[in-house]
Amino acid sequence: MTSQQAALGALKRYFGYDSFRPGQQGIVESLLEGQDVLGVMPTGAGKSVCYQVPAALLPGITIVVSPLISLMRDQVDALNDLGLTAAFVNATQTPDEQSMVLAQVAAGQVRLLYVAPERLETGRFRDFAVRTPISLIAVDEAHCVSQWGQDFRSSYLGIGGFIASLPTRPTIGAFTATATERVRQDIITILGLRNPTVTVTGFDRPNLYFDVVKLESKYKAAWIARYVADHEDESGIIYCATRKETEALAAALNQMGHPAVAYHGGMSPEVREQAQRDFITDRVPVVVATNAFGMGIDKSNVRFVIHHNMPESIEAYYQEAGRAGRDGEPSRCTLLWNESDIVTRRRLLDTDYENERLTPEEQEIVRQSKRRLLDGMVGYCRTTDCLHRYMTRYFGQELEDSFDRTDHAVGGDAHCGDADRDTGGDRGAAPHKCGACSNCESTFETIDVTRVARAISRCVHDVNQRVGSGKIVKILRGSKAQDLAWLNPEQMPTFGMLKDVNEARIRDVLSQMATDGFLFIAEGRLPIVMFGKRAAETAAADFHYEIKRVERRSVAAGSSAGAKRNRLHGGASVISADALAGSALGLYVPDDDEEALFQKLRDLRRTIAQEIGKPPYIVFSDKTLRDMARIKPVTNAQFLAVNGVGQHKLDLYGQRFMQTVALFNAGNMQ
Ligand SMILES: [Zn+2]
Repeated sequence: MTSQQAALGALKRYFGYDSFRPGQQGIVESLLEGQDVLGVMPTGAGKSVCYQVPAALLPGITIVVSPLISLMRDQVDALNDLGLTAAFVNATQTPDEQSMVLAQVAAGQVRLLYVAPERLETGRFRDFAVRTPISLIAVDEAHCVSQWGQDFRSSYLGIGGFIASLPTRPTIGAFTATATERVRQDIITILGLRNPTVTVTGFDRPNLYFDVVKLESKYKAAWIARYVADHEDESGIIYCATRKETEALAAALNQMGHPAVAYHGGMSPEVREQAQRDFITDRVPVVVATNAFGMGIDKSNVRFVIHHNMPESIEAYYQEAGRAGRDGEPSRCTLLWNESDIVTRRRLLDTDYENERLTPEEQEIVRQSKRRLLDGMVGYCRTTDCLHRYMTRYFGQELEDSFDRTDHAVGGDAHCGDADRDTGGDRGAAPHKCGACSNCESTFETIDVTRVARAISRCVHDVNQRVGSGKIVKILRGSKAQDLAWLNPEQMPTFGMLKDVNEARIRDVLSQMATDGFLFIAEGRLPIVMFGKRAAETAAADFHYEIKRVERRSVAAGSSAGAKRNRLHGGASVISADALAGSALGLYVPDDDEEALFQKLRDLRRTIAQEIGKPPYIVFSDKTLRDMARIKPVTNAQFLAVNGVGQHKLDLYGQRFMQTVALFNAGNMQ
């Protein structure tokens, strides 16, 4: 049997899937063949399957190094439920418990062992490790090794030494959702990966509907309340910037009869733990949280994530918003923002990063890098481009032409129709429409900033790509500031060219140009504005550039019309293109029958979850229940055909779910 066949067999047997998701298969096969791997995959892309499938097949054990101690118990429970034996050792256990687990592992009763990185440095663990055959070490959140990231953990620096101390070097798989080149290099060097296969997968999450809503602060709470009211059945996370805001908003929602819990770092551990449990077990559908919430959360059926304020970076936004729809079902990510969010964030940047361990010069470097991250976020709010495309481009992954969901979904028919309608005959030039973001779906006013963009581009040329954005703005505005004197700006054709345009507008256009690839802001102590890959386009005669002016027509995005169908892409929509969006996404629209059965299956899942004292999604995901409602299985073979059902789950729960289906069918016959 080839490693490919073995991998597919294990995937089906334990996870109940017929095929791997993008990127997984190559990683799994490399690991099975003893090849080190660096997997860069966003949250929710199915990273854990990449080492869990090899763990099922390799002769020795797999050690999973993870900083997320609070998540270990759930992960291990879920694996044991799939029939894959797993255990963890961490500081929450007594020394006796730890010894017992290690003895079980040594006796060959466990395939996967989860540990925190600190554990690797203890003498007892090292003793254990040299005596136990280890086939694979999977390092989760591998970016924590890099001091360039925001999540640096010094304990990660010991992983390389641990690996080197083993009598036989296992295969190493490192996994992260952080994509910058510098961090990737650090991971490879510090962990000592040998000629690793580097796989960067799907930063696009097609099942997420991205929505940007510009809204005055005083209207935000009402907008959220309306949204929650229209999605009573759905589980969602609302992120706020401050602890005070989370409590106020949670209280307001409860007062209006929408159960919600607050969660933030200032609460006592018990209260926090309780809030998290209530949310995970679906006792309370909505959590209102600061960004402290989420690291230990692996809830697959979160249907919406709303940001009450603009986060500090696209990385942060993507990680938080990406907690929606991890089961692959349509879900919605809405960002509420306004100009004062930007002002607040910019002000925080200047005061927040005073760190006495850093020299003033180093602090300035940190600030500059934070400013660039913030510019990327502001660009997301303002862009008129497809939000999916903006996001993937930001992560250095250009959505290719093949990414045209409209093409995929509507298929041949629409192709013909389109060809007829196409006036220019050049499909490649048609504006990209994903059908899953508010920019592609709605109309907003734009401002033509072609002249400003051209002037900026020329000015970058005039100064020979040698200065930062502040100086460029000054030159364009015709400033006589002393710090420009060395450039002799008055001699430049672009000096004073944008005298009539205010400074903020020029800055906005400049940062938009950087995020769209016309400019490139070079790293360094003082970031220099240089030409980007698309710079030449600004000199073309037909160059045209716009930025967004106004929020979309309606503030009443939570309107309840068509709420049921709206569930399909996770939420209310401002425009009445719900059905269209559904089909453009290639989504399956259930009939009322299926919806009714789905609700019954969900009830059964809740009952079972309560019986076994685990979160409902551990029993089956929403996606699996939807597929079950569609297939309506009454035999073992049919049940195994349901997406996400493996042999072990069939043995555990098959009978009860099939009984529910049979009863439902009988009821429908009468
Ligand atoms: Zn789009």
